[in-house]
Amino acid sequence: MSILKVSRLGHPVLRMQAPPVSPQFLATPAIQKLIDDMVETMVEYYGVGLAAPQVHESLSLAVLESHGPRGDFPLMVLVNPEVTVLDEEMIEDWEGCLSIPEFRGRVPRWRKLRVDALDRKGKKIQFTAEGFFARVIQHEFDHLMGKVYLDRMRDLQTLSHFAEFQRYWLPQEPEEA
Ligand SMILES: [Zn+2]
Repeated sequence: MSILKVSRLGHPVLRMQAPPVSPQFLATPAIQKLIDDMVETMVEYYGVGLAAPQVHESLSLAVLESHGPRGDFPLMVLVNPEVTVLDEEMIEDWEGCLSIPEFRGRVPRWRKLRVDALDRKGKKIQFTAEGFFARVIQHEFDHLMGKVYLDRMRDLQTLSHFAEFQRYWLPQEPEEA
């Protein structure tokens, strides 16, 4: 496995809509290795999620995993995810992004979602997600649509460098995704 280079804000790949992965392509060793490498890259950089455009691959594919204080969910691979909002309530909380290093900002997100996707074997999966889990899914889903969390902030008043975030806003560190 390999640790991949993470694309940073300004790279056009982060602003493209990622095309779906065909079942035939998903079955290839190349995509299966990409998935393994994305998981290794996410772990290496202490992320809770990583979307394929963040490793310079415009494909509708994301990995996520969290065992931190904000939320606990197992390693998941989401291929061609679709998101349906199940609760109109939005919750604002802090986010960071491996493609926008050393910044944090408060982002409103839907509280509860249904997710339809394929797993890495091409099997259909469906589940509901709430709270921090739903937040991470929305963050990754946005990457697949060419969006970043800055686009979702109500305004940029809370956008902070990490050191200032720690000093003035919060004692604990939110995970990057
Ligand atoms: Zn991100």
